[in-house]
Amino acid sequence: MVWTSSLECAHNRWVDGVHYSTVVMMRVLDTAALLHWPADKLVGGICAESQRQEIERVSPQRSMLVFALEIDWRQVPNDWLEHARKVAAKSGDLPRLSDVDLDVLALALGLDVPLFTDDYRLQNTMQNAGKNTSSIDSSGAKQVWKWQLRCTGCRVKTEVPANVDRSKKGPIKDCDICGSPMMLKKVK
Ligand SMILES: [Zn+2]
Repeated sequence: MVWTSSLECAHNRWVDGVHYSTVVMMRVLDTAALLHWPADKLVGGICAESQRQEIERVSPQRSMLVFALEIDWRQVPNDWLEHARKVAAKSGDLPRLSDVDLDVLALALGLDVPLFTDDYRLQNTMQNAGKNTSSIDSSGAKQVWKWQLRCTGCRVKTEVPANVDRSKKGPIKDCDICGSPMMLKKVK
């Protein structure tokens, strides 16, 4: 009998959890949130299919917990990705965003819902576009900035193009004028 009632209890809590997820606001979760945030903050969240593979690769153990949660996994439409690329080029964050970052951004912009992320580049891109983000330590108003490309040779400055190559670090492209490497610099 004790066994039965504890089963019922667990079942009720689970039902409550699902019910709760239908009333909280729609939001997109980035992979760091999937990896580190408490499970009750993840339930009902929207994520990209590419995040499934990423989390499985980064943390097989955590992925088992996450896959058991009620999460809305979505394929990202190409036109949403194209839009995300343009928005991220405008703030200048694009060259440092990964494929998965772009998927996450595209979902938040395409669905026009807040993005839950602790990543300052994703936060900055969203806020430059006038969109909401939420982080686990929501410590007051955040600074918003823009990046541009600056040539290490002739010092010319340009906007970040939407078709720019993306990488974790290093020069972004070669200067069209003098051929020297161009680096990301914060616009002052
Ligand atoms: Zn140059």
